[in-house]
Amino acid sequence: MALYAELHRHLGGSVVPRILWRYFQRHDAHLADRFPEYPSFEQFYTRARNTLDEYLELHTLVEGVQTAQTLPYFIYRLIRGAYIFENLAYLELRYTPYLRTPEGLSQTERIDKMAEIVEIVGKASQVTEYPIVTSQILCMHARLPKEVNRAIVDLARQQGQYVCAIDLAGGDNHYGDRLDELIELYEYARSHGIHTTGHVYETPDGCHPDLLPYLERIGHGIQIPLKHPELLPDLARRGQCLEICPTTYLKTGTLDDLQQLKVVFDRCFEAGVAIAICTDNAGLHNVRLPFEYENLLTYNIIDFRQMQACQAAAFRHAFAWPHTQPPGEMLSGLLKEPISSL
Ligand SMILES: [Zn+2]
Repeated sequence: MALYAELHRHLGGSVVPRILWRYFQRHDAHLADRFPEYPSFEQFYTRARNTLDEYLELHTLVEGVQTAQTLPYFIYRLIRGAYIFENLAYLELRYTPYLRTPEGLSQTERIDKMAEIVEIVGKASQVTEYPIVTSQILCMHARLPKEVNRAIVDLARQQGQYVCAIDLAGGDNHYGDRLDELIELYEYARSHGIHTTGHVYETPDGCHPDLLPYLERIGHGIQIPLKHPELLPDLARRGQCLEICPTTYLKTGTLDDLQQLKVVFDRCFEAGVAIAICTDNAGLHNVRLPFEYENLLTYNIIDFRQMQACQAAAFRHAFAWPHTQPPGEMLSGLLKEPISSL
């Protein structure tokens, strides 16, 4: 039985348009007025943007409605959909907890509120009838000051039962003059045994070789095989895994054709660099994980065997999968067991 692991999904981009639109109709008169008809909302929400910055701007629409009060509403629907429509057995959900706290509070008050958000997300993710193994990745953010990002790392330390790793988000073209600070934060996290990933080498302006040694997994990283293939042997040696999210690159204008990913997969397979195929923002794209797999097959970017290798890599590189095997291997024996011997 094919059950999947999703390693790169943002909480903000995880709400499918239908769920978000219905939420506006039920609970937000202002946004319901702005989007009275579903088809035009879906068109607005899922259309491709010209740049990564423009694309990330859309997250603010969702962040604004994902508060301590509403998070359980959205997360319940996310877990339900992921179980029923995506066959997920494992999900790492990422977000910046600071951006889910009330804007009107002071920075210190907002930092203090972050722990509550992590707990709400953690509890809401445990849905008895949809038993997916979940964990959280807390995103440091390129536009937040160092004190806030450091508090995010501290929170990851303190909330080990809910949080498996830290990430760096906010647009990889915005890290530029803060690299030393970011490296220090990653060193700090690693010294406390926190797993690490980070959005780098997503766009041509986001190539930061100095960050690479601190990452166990690389968020996107497509510019490495595309423009800097000489780095691939280092990645293979460090056992780093790329989190590739095919639909994103079309939505952000980073690639104009999915075919451009063929060289990404070919060079990584050749160099022995693992790839996990992910959705990034399954709701915002309206593309769920099984369709990401199928699209890559349809366009002949990978073959069936390579797809299965990527699916296995996702479980192998998962930060909080509690078993030694992927679930398919665990279930196949069980399903074939004669009823009389159970
Ligand atoms: Zn991402």
